[in-house]
Amino acid sequence: MSIQTSDPNEGSDSLKSLSLIAAHSHITGLGLDENLQAKESSQGMVGQVQARRAAGVILKMVQNGTIAGRAVLVAGPPSTGKTALAMGLSQSLGKDVPFTAIAGSEIFSLELSKTEALTQAFRRSIGVKIKEETELIEGEVVEIQIDRSITGGHKQGKLTIKTTDMETIYELGNKMIDGLTKEKVLAGDVISIDKASGKITKLGRSFARSRDYDAMGADTRFVQCPEGELQKRKTAVHTVSLHEIDVINSRTQGFLALFTGDTGEIRSEVRDQINTKVAEWKEEGKAEIVPGVLFIDEVHMLDIECFSFINRALEDEFAPIIMMATNRGISKTRGTNYKSPHGLPLDLLDRSIIITTTNYNEAEIKTILNIRAQEEEVELTNDALDLLTKIGTETSLRYSSNLISVAQQIAFKRKNNAVDVADVKRAYTLFLDSARSVKYVQDNNSQYIDDQGYVDISAQG
Ligand code: ATP
Repeated sequence: MSIQTSDPNEGSDSLKSLSLIAAHSHITGLGLDENLQAKESSQGMVGQVQARRAAGVILKMVQNGTIAGRAVLVAGPPSTGKTALAMGLSQSLGKDVPFTAIAGSEIFSLELSKTEALTQAFRRSIGVKIKEETELIEGEVVEIQIDRSITGGHKQGKLTIKTTDMETIYELGNKMIDGLTKEKVLAGDVISIDKASGKITKLGRSFARSRDYDAMGADTRFVQCPEGELQKRKTAVHTVSLHEIDVINSRTQGFLALFTGDTGEIRSEVRDQINTKVAEWKEEGKAEIVPGVLFIDEVHMLDIECFSFINRALEDEFAPIIMMATNRGISKTRGTNYKSPHGLPLDLLDRSIIITTTNYNEAEIKTILNIRAQEEEVELTNDALDLLTKIGTETSLRYSSNLISVAQQIAFKRKNNAVDVADVKRAYTLFLDSARSVKYVQDNNSQYIDDQGYVDISAQG
C-alpha cells in the first residue's frame, strides 16, 4: 500500500486543545537552566523545584530519544502544579516532539471504545519524521533570493533555488517585488524581474554581457542564475503523528476526519499495515520515530481495563512516554474493589517512576498569583495581592487564582481599574471556596435532595 502523510500542524488536534491550557497560559517552559537546575521563578513556573528538576531529566531523555514506553506518575495534592508541570514539559519539548494531553474521563464516550480512544491518544503521541528527497526540476524558478541585484554593467546577482513550495515563492516574492510569475530558466541564464508586475523574463546566458542592460528601465532587476545550483537535491522533513497516518489511510474515514476529529474506530489491519510500512521506512533511513509524551490528567478516572491496556501498550514497538497525574491518595481502582496508592493497580505503579508535588508556601503562592494577574491583565494593589495570598494559603491556590478575574469585574463596576482589598473581599463573600461550601451544605443538608431523590421535609420549619 502507499501511505499518505499529512502535516501535523494542519490537522485538528482535539485532544491537545483541552480547556486546561487557559489556566496554564502563563507557563512557557519548565524554567530550568542549562544544567537542568530549576530557577526559583522562571518561564511562569514557580517553586516545586524537585518536581521540575525531575521533569527536566525526563525532558532530556525524551529529546535524546533515549526513553519510550515508560510511565511517569506525578502525584500530589490538588492545585500543586501537576498539570502545570506537564504543560511546562510540553512547551520545552518543541513542536517536533508530539505532546498529547487528555483527561482520564475523556476515554469514556459512546462513539469510541475505551481501548480505541486510548490507542488514538497513544498514536497521536508518536511522531514519524519523514525525510523526503525532492529532485528540483532544472530551470524551474522556485525561490529567489537576491544578494546583489544587477542594475547595469557586469555585476551579478545570486539566484538560489530552495524549494518547490509555492507559498515560499509568494512570500519571498512579495518582499522583493509585487507578486511573482513563475518561468523556466536555466543555470547561467540571466533573468529580469520587473519590480512593478513581478514578471520574470528569461534573457538568455549572454545577456549579462550585452548592452541591452541599459535599455531596460531602472524598475527592472537582473539576476544571473548560478551554474550548477539548479539540480541540487533537497531534503524536506515533515513530522506527522502515527494517528494522522492512520486516519488518512483509513478508507472509511478519509483525511477530513482529521479536521472534524470524528475518526470513528480505525481497523486494526490499517494500523498493522502502517506499522509495517513505517518500520520499513525506518530501516531504509527514510523515517525516524519520535516517541512523544501522552499526558493523562486525573488518571484515577481510568478503570482496570484501561490500566491493563496501558500496561500492554507500553511494551509495543511504537510507544510514547506516558505521564499520568493524580491527586488521589489510597483509593479504589475503578472497576475493582481493591484499594491501592493513587488508585493505580500495583503492576502499573511498579513500572512507573513517580514525581511528587507538595503544597506551596506563602511566598510561592504570592508569586504565582502575581504572575496570573499579569497574565489576565488585572492590575492588583499590593494590599489586594496580600489578601489574595492569605486566601490562597487558607483555602487553595486555584480558588484564590479564580478570584482575580471576579474581583476585577467588581472593581470595574466601581469604576476602578485596579483591584483593591474591598473588591477581593466582595469576591470572597460572593463565591464560596470548597471548605465553606461543604460547611454550608452540612448546615443546610435538610433542604437538599438526597441520593434517593427525597427532601427531608420533617427538618424544615
Ligand atoms: P489538581 O490535582 O486539582 O488537578 P494540579 O496539581 O494539576 O491540580 P494545576 O492545575 O497545575 O494543579 O495548578 C493550579 C493553577 O496554579 C494553574 O493555573 C497552574 O498553572 C498554577 N500553578 C500551579 N503550580 C504552579 C507553579 N509551580 N508555577 C506557576 N503556576 C503554577
